[in-house]
Amino acid sequence: CGIVAARTAEPVAPILLGALKLLEYRGYDSAGVSIRTSGGESSTTRTVDRVESLRTRVAAWPGAELPGSGVGHTRWATHGAVTEQNAHPHQDCSGNLSVVHNGIVENAVALRRELEQRGHVFASEVDSEVIGHLIEEGLGTSDDLAGAVTAAVARLEGSWAVVVLDGRTDRLVAAAHRSPLLVARSPRGVFAASDITAIGEWVEHFQAMRDGDVVELADELRWSRDGHPVPEPPMADSVWTGA
Ligand code: GLU
Repeated sequence: CGIVAARTAEPVAPILLGALKLLEYRGYDSAGVSIRTSGGESSTTRTVDRVESLRTRVAAWPGAELPGSGVGHTRWATHGAVTEQNAHPHQDCSGNLSVVHNGIVENAVALRRELEQRGHVFASEVDSEVIGHLIEEGLGTSDDLAGAVTAAVARLEGSWAVVVLDGRTDRLVAAAHRSPLLVARSPRGVFAASDITAIGEWVEHFQAMRDGDVVELADELRWSRDGHPVPEPPMADSVWTGA
């Protein structure tokens, strides 16, 4: 139901957890976060409890006070029971990819059957989990996460706001189709969120992703569609300054 992602030069864990808290008002049944610190440590935790309960677990992680990249999610379950196992972020077989998804993958049953036939092992009942496995296949041994995300979402039917973190290469990529997702950059870092309230403290302007956009959140935002670079869409102000 809510997504946040960030790559920052300051401690990333408090930014993600603070943003998830600000997304609570949208309603959710479970939540989770994956972080890759600048020291190279990757960790994930998920809960069917409140966002607040993630805080103590994250504080115990090695490098929790470091800058880095990460993704966070509040879930409103559509496919699969409300369990920790079904909460996002979901992972691929290698465990390198962490995927958060809002929306519904309508052809998930067929995709899952196809992926299982090719040897993929699923850890949850959730439609969203196919996304990570598709990206894993597209990625192979390459570092081109944006290319693999583009190929993966081309296989999906339904709606998605997706952000993927590759803990191996430290790449962070967002894609959207019929589900809201904003991206933003500022001196504080690069961000993605389903709702500006989540990141309004760190950015003054944002850009709304359009259907089919793929954005890599690197030092800058790299926009593409169908694998081809495209110019950035116009900026909007994150703060309403009055009439
Ligand atoms: N369809 C996904 C699930 O059931 C995503 C739901 C959401 O948008 O939170 O987990």
